[in-house]
Amino acid sequence: MNEHPLANSKELNSGKVDEVAITLQTDDSVKIKNKVREKKIISAEKMLQVDNLHVSFRTYGGEVEAVRGVNFDLYKGETLAIVGESGCGKSVTSNAIMGLIPEPAGMIKNGSIFFKGKELTKMSKAQIRKIQGVDISMIFQDPMTALNPTLTIGEQLTEGLRTHKEIGKQEAKRKAIEMLSLVGIPNPEERLKQFPHQFSGGMRQRIVIAIALICDPELLIADEPTTALDVTIQAQILELFEEIQRKTDISIILITHDLGVVAKIADRIAVMYAGKIVEIGDKREIFYTPEHPYTKGLLNSVPRLDLVDEELQPIDGTPPDLFSPPTGCPFTARCQYAMEVCDHVYPFTTKVSETHAVDCWLQDERAKVLQVKI
Ligand code: SF4
Repeated sequence: MNEHPLANSKELNSGKVDEVAITLQTDDSVKIKNKVREKKIISAEKMLQVDNLHVSFRTYGGEVEAVRGVNFDLYKGETLAIVGESGCGKSVTSNAIMGLIPEPAGMIKNGSIFFKGKELTKMSKAQIRKIQGVDISMIFQDPMTALNPTLTIGEQLTEGLRTHKEIGKQEAKRKAIEMLSLVGIPNPEERLKQFPHQFSGGMRQRIVIAIALICDPELLIADEPTTALDVTIQAQILELFEEIQRKTDISIILITHDLGVVAKIADRIAVMYAGKIVEIGDKREIFYTPEHPYTKGLLNSVPRLDLVDEELQPIDGTPPDLFSPPTGCPFTARCQYAMEVCDHVYPFTTKVSETHAVDCWLQDERAKVLQVKI
C-alpha cells in the first residue's frame, strides 16, 4: 500500500496538535491557554480517484466544456478544498462525483471516477442512487432551499435512513436524535417535531449537515457550506466539520471560493481555473509557496490584517470563454509572465514536491529550450 505523502507532514506526525489561544484578561495581562486537540488521522487508503474527467453541457449557443481533464485523489480522513472563481468548474466536478450531471444537456464526455475502487461513471442510475446519500453525501450552499418547509426536521432526517437502510421507526428516531446531538442542536428530542422555519440559519445548516451524515457516508461533498452564514456561525460550522472528521474518519471535498475557510480546515488544496486543476498541494505549500500566477493572484486579492495600508490587487481580466477554450494556457490573457509558448501549448504538469504540482510553463525547463520570448 502506498504511503500517503501527507504522512510525512510534521504537523500530522506531532501526535497532538497544540493550538495556542490567547485570552485577554481584565487586568490586561495575557493568559496563554493551550487547547490540545486529538490528532487527525489521514489514511493511505484512496477513497476517491478522479482521472481525466471531462464534463460538457449542450446549450443553445453550442457546447460548453465546463470541466476539461481534472485529476485528483482523495484519501480516507482527508479534506481536499477545491478553490477558484465562479464558473471554473468546481461545482460541476463535485456534481459529477455525486452523479448529478443533468442529462441529456450535461454529459461526462471522458474520464473516470473511482469511489473505493468502483467506477461511478459506468454505473446505472439505480446503482448510483444506492450510493447517493448513503456512501457519498452532499451539503448544499443554502440550507433553506435544501430543507423541505412542509416536513418536520424528524421526518427529513429519518427519510433517507428508512429508504436506504431498511430500519424501523424507533431505531431511525434514535439515530436522528444522536445526529442532532452530534451537530450540536440542544434538546434534540423536542426539536425533531419542529419545522425548518423554527430554526435560525446556523441551526438549519447544522440540520442539513446532520441529514448528510445520518447514513454514515464515507465521502462528504460540501459545496460552499458556509457562504450563506455570518462569520461567527461560519466558525462554529467549520469546527463542527473538524470534530465530525476526527470522530468518523470521513473524507471531505470542500468546494469554496473563500480562502479563509480553506485555511481553517483543508489538508490539501486544488486550484481550478477554466475547467482544469492548475495547481495542487498541501495547505502550507499553496499558502506559503504558491507557484502558479493565478494562485498568487487569488492570494493577493484576499484582505490581510497584517497589510492594512496595502491595496488589494484584483486579477485583471476575465476567464476565457469555455464555448471555445484556448489550446494553450487558459490564463495567458491575464498573466503578466505569459510567454509565446503559453498561447499555443497547454503546460505539462511539473512536480514541485511530493505533494505539490503545477501546470505552468514557468516551472518547466523545456520552455527555455523552446527559446520562447519572455
Ligand atoms: Fe502564465 Fe504561461 Fe504560466 Fe500560463 S503557463 S500561468 S500564461 S506563465
